[in-house]
Amino acid sequence: MPSKAPTPVFDGHNDVLLRLFKKTGTSTPENDFLLGDGEGHLDLPRMLQGGFAGGLFAVYVPSAGLTLDKLNELMRGADYDVPLPSLLEAAAALPTALAMIAILYRIERASDGAFMVCRTGGELRRCLETGVIGAVLHMEGAEAIDPGLNALEVFHQAGLRSLGPVWSRPTIFGHGVPFRFPSTGDTGPGLTDAGKALVKACNELGVAIDLSHMTEQGFWDVARVSTKPLIASHSNAHAICPHARNLTDKQLAAIAHSGGLVGLNFATCFLRPDGQKGEGTEIDLMLRHLDHLIAKLGVDHVGLGSDFDGAYIPESIGDVKGLPVLVAALRRHGYDDATLNLLCHENWISVLERTWS
Ligand code: ZN
Repeated sequence: MPSKAPTPVFDGHNDVLLRLFKKTGTSTPENDFLLGDGEGHLDLPRMLQGGFAGGLFAVYVPSAGLTLDKLNELMRGADYDVPLPSLLEAAAALPTALAMIAILYRIERASDGAFMVCRTGGELRRCLETGVIGAVLHMEGAEAIDPGLNALEVFHQAGLRSLGPVWSRPTIFGHGVPFRFPSTGDTGPGLTDAGKALVKACNELGVAIDLSHMTEQGFWDVARVSTKPLIASHSNAHAICPHARNLTDKQLAAIAHSGGLVGLNFATCFLRPDGQKGEGTEIDLMLRHLDHLIAKLGVDHVGLGSDFDGAYIPESIGDVKGLPVLVAALRRHGYDDATLNLLCHENWISVLERTWS
C-alpha cells in the first residue's frame, strides 16, 4: 500500500513562542525553529513530518519564578491548589509580548514561504491546500493590553486574531482559574467592566475570545456579552477529569448553542481522572474525552488543542511527530475520514471564519 500523507492537523494551542523566547540571547530562535532544534515538542521539520498544518501560536508572558517544571511540581498529590500568580502590569508585560510577536514574524520572513501568519479564513484554507504552515497569532492573557485598548487596536493590525482575556491569574479584564484539583471552574469573579469592553471590542475587530483559563463566572459573562461563537481552545471534559481548567457539561451545552468549539488538550493533568502529570497516560483516555465532547457538542464543534511546548503530554505521542499516532487511534476507534477531517482541521477553520467575519 502506498504510504499516505499524514492527515493535516490544525491545532488550537501551542507555546513554541515561549520556548523560543527563552532561548533569545543564546541563539537565533527563528533559525532554531526553521532548521529544527529537536527541543520541546515543536519545530518546522517535525511539524511537516507529523502533518501539523497550522494552529494558534500563543503569546504568553510568564510570571517570574513560575516555570513549567515548578508548576508540575506544585500539581502533585491527590489534590492540589496552585496559588494564582499576581497581576502583571501592562508596562512590564508589553516588551515580552512584543519580543514573542517579533519571533513569529522573523520565522515567517526567514521561512522562504514555508510558514505564514494568517489573518483570514481564505489564507488558512490556502495554507492547508499548499502545505504552508498557517499560523494564527493568539494571546494567552491580555496583560500587555492597556485599559484604553490602544494596544488591542495595534495588535489587531499586527495580526492578532485570538485573545484569552486571562491566563490562570488575574488581569484588569478578569480572573483566571487556578490549577486546582479537584475543583469546578467556579473559583472567583468573572469579567470586570474593562473585560466586558474588551470582549465587545474583540467582537467588532474580529478577534476570537478564548475561554480556556477563565473562571466559570467569566465564562458566563463572555457568553452574555459576546455575539460570536464561544471557543475554548485547549480544555477538556470536567465529567472525566474534574480539574478547574476543564469544562462542565453545562458549559459545553452553551458552547454548542453558540456554534463554538472546544479543542482537546493533550496535557495529562487535564486528561486523567486523577488530575496528575502521570506517566503512562494512554491515548484511550484522549478518545474518552473526545467521545464525551462530541456527545455534548456535536461532531462539528470539537477540534484539537495540543498545548505542545506548554504541557506534559502522553509519551506515546511524544511530540508533534506523534500526531499520526493519535490520528490512527481515532481511525481505529471508528471515526471515518469525514469525521477525522472535521476534528483535525475543518471545525477550527470554520469557527475562526465565522468569528472573524
Ligand atoms: Zn494554557
